[in-house]
Amino acid sequence: MRIGEKVRVAALIPAAGRGRRMAEELPKAFLPMDGIPLLAHTLRQFEACPGVGEVVVLAPPGNGVQLAEDLVKRFGFKKVSRIVPGGAERQDSVYAGLKVLEPDMDVVLIHDGARPFITPDLVERIVTETRISKAVVAAIPVRDTIKEIGEDGRVLKTLSRNLLWEIQTPQGFQYPLLLKAYEKAFQDRFYGTDDAALVERLGLRVKVISGSRYNLKITTPEDLVLGEALLKMRRG
Ligand code: C5P
Repeated sequence: MRIGEKVRVAALIPAAGRGRRMAEELPKAFLPMDGIPLLAHTLRQFEACPGVGEVVVLAPPGNGVQLAEDLVKRFGFKKVSRIVPGGAERQDSVYAGLKVLEPDMDVVLIHDGARPFITPDLVERIVTETRISKAVVAAIPVRDTIKEIGEDGRVLKTLSRNLLWEIQTPQGFQYPLLLKAYEKAFQDRFYGTDDAALVERLGLRVKVISGSRYNLKITTPEDLVLGEALLKMRRG
């Protein structure tokens, strides 16, 4: 992919999780943070990215698709081209999204619907780097010491912290590469904990760029409290 050439960029937003750790009826993507559904916070940021041409949302199967359609209408999001039912695991959801993209797509970004503090700046940095490096993740260095603990509740091993990073989304990939990685993973019945892991299996060394401590993943009710505090701080 040459610099200066116009590239087609699509963002896939997996938002199909039920959010069991939230212990709420409504799927997590539709829970309000400061009065606005989590997914709407996230989509708003992608609407503001000039480099992203279209957005595909993976919604919870069942009524989640309708809820996502209503949300897109209510907030007037223009870039959402498709809302597709997700699958049992995040990887199934992303694969469902990858399959509906047009074959001539150049770059695919994957970003969790549950990370509403993504910024257009980080998205653009990922796109720029993906054109060069083919597969890119955002990450931050771990701050705590990480140990492996055995089933008996005792330490097996202390890992060397200076080599450990927390991996976030967005993750960016050249589309043919990611499709190949997904097809191989499903052939091999391999499930990874992020998208880059599937590309790593093809032998490619994934590039890491600096993410943000604010790019929180909203997982538990405590995270919603933190998220609301962060929004309040930003409003000043
Ligand atoms: O469960 P976790 O918070 O790690 O999920 C990360 C993202 O993946 C969330 O935005 C969630 O909605 C999405 N997901 C999905 N399909 C699933 C499970 C999770 O799209 N089956």
